[in-house]
Amino acid sequence: MTVVASVLTCSRTLVDLLYPAACLLCRAPTDGSASPVCESCQLAMPRSLAPVCARCGLGLAGAYDAHLVCPACQRHPPVFGQARAPFVYARAVPDAIKTFKYRGRHRLGAWLAAQMAEEVRHHAPFADVQAVVPVPLHWFTRRLRGFDPPIALARTIARLLGVPYVPLLQRTRWTATQTRLSPSARARNVEGAFRVSARPRPSGGVLLIDDVLTSGATANACAHVLRRAGIQPVHVLTAARTPLHP
Ligand SMILES: [Zn+2]
Ligand SMILES: [Zn+2]
Repeated sequence: MTVVASVLTCSRTLVDLLYPAACLLCRAPTDGSASPVCESCQLAMPRSLAPVCARCGLGLAGAYDAHLVCPACQRHPPVFGQARAPFVYARAVPDAIKTFKYRGRHRLGAWLAAQMAEEVRHHAPFADVQAVVPVPLHWFTRRLRGFDPPIALARTIARLLGVPYVPLLQRTRWTATQTRLSPSARARNVEGAFRVSARPRPSGGVLLIDDVLTSGATANACAHVLRRAGIQPVHVLTAARTPLHP
């Protein structure tokens, strides 16, 4: 071992002694685990397991059927193809996503992105996807936060899936937060808020990345402009799906 390598190893050990690795959610020691989220916090993060709606990924009661479509998607079929998420937005999941988004915890973002990539590998093989596309934030929101969570997720997912990262969408105007709006107000709020950039366009489908899918209004508005530009199918991958349509 070279002198430089020995010094680096010693300083790493010293850092580990002074600052033992801790869970980014509850601060409990992670005992040398590579995961930034401890086992008990992971157990408090409900997984989005089958059966789910074949279109919007909503958890459904009953026997597994890959073609099951929820009542809301039957009434108003989404513009996007399929949406999937590794987690249900409940219990410890909202805290994990907010910690990543609002406190800029990049290791937590990388961990969430890895769970999202696994979801694609195991449960939603979007075979026709040729680009990973983030849902864009308005430049002012990005400036306020200091970073862009969907871009951070999309870059890692693209690398893990071996699919090109292509920021194809731009936000044309600032929109109010969707959190306290009704489903119809959410759709109006984001209508016409996106456009497709002048970048070279993929010849096949794309995987749209966001943190949470709630009513699907943002994903629909993005899918609408992408489809109008001749890009389809537009599938959606988020870290979490709300357990109910709002
Ligand atoms: Zn924890
Ligand atoms: Zn549905």
